[in-house]
Amino acid sequence: MLQQTQVATVIPYYQRFMESFPSIKDLAIADEDKVLHHWTGLGYYARARNLHKAAKLIVSDHQGDFPQTLEQVVALPGIGRSTAGAILSLALNQHQPILDGNVKRVLARCYLVAGYNGLSAFDKSLWQLSEQLTPALETANFNQAMMDLGATVCTRSKPKCQLCPLQTSCLALAGEEQSNYPQKKPKKKIPEKSTIMIIPKLAIEGKSQVLMEKRPPAGIWGGLWCFHEVNKHSQITELLTTLNLQEQSREALTSFRHTFSHFHLDIEAIIINCQAMPLAQIKTEINEQQPQKWYDLSVEASVGLAASTQKLINLLKHI
Ligand code: SF4
Repeated sequence: MLQQTQVATVIPYYQRFMESFPSIKDLAIADEDKVLHHWTGLGYYARARNLHKAAKLIVSDHQGDFPQTLEQVVALPGIGRSTAGAILSLALNQHQPILDGNVKRVLARCYLVAGYNGLSAFDKSLWQLSEQLTPALETANFNQAMMDLGATVCTRSKPKCQLCPLQTSCLALAGEEQSNYPQKKPKKKIPEKSTIMIIPKLAIEGKSQVLMEKRPPAGIWGGLWCFHEVNKHSQITELLTTLNLQEQSREALTSFRHTFSHFHLDIEAIIINCQAMPLAQIKTEINEQQPQKWYDLSVEASVGLAASTQKLINLLKHI
């Protein structure tokens, strides 16, 4: 959870997650919807899917015990070399170097390593430094101290060099070049895309319900529940025919922009008020390959929802 998200945000999510899945085995046997539901609002859902897959692999390949070699830990989904090094050094005090964003900043400044995060030559030089510098004794303390130093003293802007234990040897401080290391990643203009989210709405047994579908496991919002999408307004009728629904009226709900790490998505949401039909004709599971269901707006969702879906549901509850 802490990859990409700050501690203060993570704490309540972590507590709820650990209450529901107190052991690797509990997580391994949990339903994916339930796991993703605990992640709703945190974003970067690949982390949740990887954690779930990793728990299953630990149970199937390691008898439920967390593996203890770097090769085995790196082989788990979602765990890179630095996270594996951190787990093994902090939990087992193994002699393993780490290189998270905070450590990279400290090393790049201390040794004036040119480059920016993600540039392979930069990462390679920093890994070499980390390997050379990480002591075989008290590795856990060293790694924790390096991460804390980067997070609290050698901060991205305005590093507190007067408090830093490395001030006598730091080359960036000597040359007053702290703000030039690491260098900024050259900005790429991220593409803009657009979509129309269709929200079929129907009163079922006197309750307002909206139709949702579960996304395929890969791709954006993988495994999460979302609304149907079309590219153009002219495709709405065809979609409703496929869903066996009859439109009574439609209304614009909202338009907003959701930004992913690699593109902007402009979302237009349209409610389709559908003609009431006998309960027997309403199928809850419309398509087995692509599960769909009517969601009762008066109850709390217990499945994983994309942030944009959650936003639309909150709006729907207030109209
Ligand atoms: S002296 Fe300043 S720039 Fe150098 S490592 Fe310490 S905080 Fe960072």
